[in-house]
Amino acid sequence: MNYNDNNIFAKILRGEIPCKKIYEDEFVLSFHDINPQKKIHALVIPKGKYTDLNDFSKNASMNEIAGFFKGIEIVSKKLGISTEGGKGYRALTNIGNDGGQEVPHLHFHLFGGEKIGKMVS
Ligand code: AMP
Repeated sequence: MNYNDNNIFAKILRGEIPCKKIYEDEFVLSFHDINPQKKIHALVIPKGKYTDLNDFSKNASMNEIAGFFKGIEIVSKKLGISTEGGKGYRALTNIGNDGGQEVPHLHFHLFGGEKIGKMVS
């Protein structure tokens, strides 16, 4: 799938739509999900134009890949849900149609702040 510059996260990255920002650096932007499914529901997205995890794994540079996953770790600490703080969380990414992906810009959901429960419903 080609990257669509009109997807909502591309608009957030360009500052055309607001978000409740948690963290930003050279590689990632993180913000609260607009429709939280758990007490804490954050999204982490790469700054680069990647539709999903497969596109990212195949086409992103090693720096982008490292920066993205380090970003998730930083965000988990900022939110107070890291294992270092004795908590924990679920990181999840949906890929494509069968995966239930709605926004075609790679994003990881971070769910935490409570017991997350069943793996898949
Ligand atoms: P997915 O189904 O994995 O593509 O998840 C897309 C997520 O983006 C959903 O959890 C939505 O609630 C969330 N979402 C959609 N629009 C916005 C927005 N403007 N700000 C924050 N989260 C959003």
